[in-house]
Amino acid sequence: MIDKYCVIGNPIAHSKSPEIHPVYAAQTGQELVYERCLAPLDGFEATIRRLVAEGYRGANVTLPFKLEAARICTRLEERAQAAGAVNTLVFEGGEIIGDNTDGPGLVADITRNAGVSIKDKRVLLLGAGGAARGALLPFLKEGPREIVIANRTVATAAALARDFGGYGIPVSGIGFSEIAGSFDIVVNATASSLAGDLPPVPASVFRPDTLALDMMYGNQATVFMDFAAGQGASVRDGLGMLVEQAAEAFAIWRGVRPATADLLKTMRP
Ligand code: NDP
Repeated sequence: MIDKYCVIGNPIAHSKSPEIHPVYAAQTGQELVYERCLAPLDGFEATIRRLVAEGYRGANVTLPFKLEAARICTRLEERAQAAGAVNTLVFEGGEIIGDNTDGPGLVADITRNAGVSIKDKRVLLLGAGGAARGALLPFLKEGPREIVIANRTVATAAALARDFGGYGIPVSGIGFSEIAGSFDIVVNATASSLAGDLPPVPASVFRPDTLALDMMYGNQATVFMDFAAGQGASVRDGLGMLVEQAAEAFAIWRGVRPATADLLKTMRP
């Protein structure tokens, strides 16, 4: 029987994952099926049970189920535990194993595709939601000099800084008005780009050698990207992160990590 996978969310029609995984399968000579799966808002767990019963080998999880997915797993990998959220499930031997490849995908995009090392760098993370939380452990493992988390709700940033303060690297959580100095890497993990807004970040955080990355992707540059580019920074959107998180998930399932550069080029509008 051909191995089956899917991406589960609600809504799900917009998901690009069913365009990505068949390309990886063809490239690596793997035979598999990858589908979209719409789960009812109150029926995520029942949908997972059905997929397991039907012999699916794994699934990706997207909004709004990433937190619930972490709760129903029988085992969580370290990075899913740290993120408190799951975007990749493996169904194996009666177990539901949860992992999170969003953060590793972001790090892979910065280090492999942009060619920027995170080691010894000063990093500013804007936002303290699920995407920011998922990025922190993978970032810390790259050995930055310092991570500053700035968020609209300061208490959330401070809590995140406490949770990730035990890795021997300074991590602080502050409000936007407290941001001081310039940074080597600035990541916009706020949802403000969705509304076409700019998080209130001072222009002085950017230098000509700064990499500014907005986790959002679409047909055009975000206001954050335009603002950072206006200060001379190099800018990236979140498409590379998306393609890389999918490659990480594919590697978990199939034991081989596909190359991403050609796909990234063809997916760029
Ligand atoms: P959450 O809802 O978990 O977190 C939202 C964050 O944005 C919070 O820190 C919130 O602050 C902040 N925020 C919301 N509105 C504003 C605003 N107007 N001004 C300033 N801050 C604001 O979302 P996620 O963490 O899941 O997603 C964040 C972004 O990352 C989205 O754009 C999403 O599309 C993108 N993403 C991209 C991925 C990819 O593969 N490229 C993968 C996952 C996410 P507060 O705490 O004060 O409410």
